[in-house]
Amino acid sequence: MIEASCHCGAVRLAIDAAPETVTDCNCSICRRYGVLWAYYSPKQVRFVPLEPATDSYMWDDRSIAFHRCRTCGCVTHWAAVDPARDRMGVNARLMPLEVLAQARVRRLDGAVTEDYIDD
Ligand SMILES: [Zn+2]
Repeated sequence: MIEASCHCGAVRLAIDAAPETVTDCNCSICRRYGVLWAYYSPKQVRFVPLEPATDSYMWDDRSIAFHRCRTCGCVTHWAAVDPARDRMGVNARLMPLEVLAQARVRRLDGAVTEDYIDD
């Protein structure tokens, strides 16, 4: 298990496993956030506290919500609005340095082709 935390510690995540890969996406929102996404099933991620103090942002088809800490502003994760969708993204930049250092960074062309462009 690994832990991730926003800068002030108000939002903490306990995650079943370290990511093997993280995604650097160039879509309109990810490139502005500057995040690295680690994808999980929501079943693999627990929030501490259970109801984290985040604000969220949605746009376009409003299918996913991007969450940020209400206190320090760090983008923490995105969550699908549809609870049946078994996928969420955790901002791997909130993980310990040594965990992030072990992960392979993959580049996703989310802006245009939706394909990975690193191999
Ligand atoms: Zn915070």
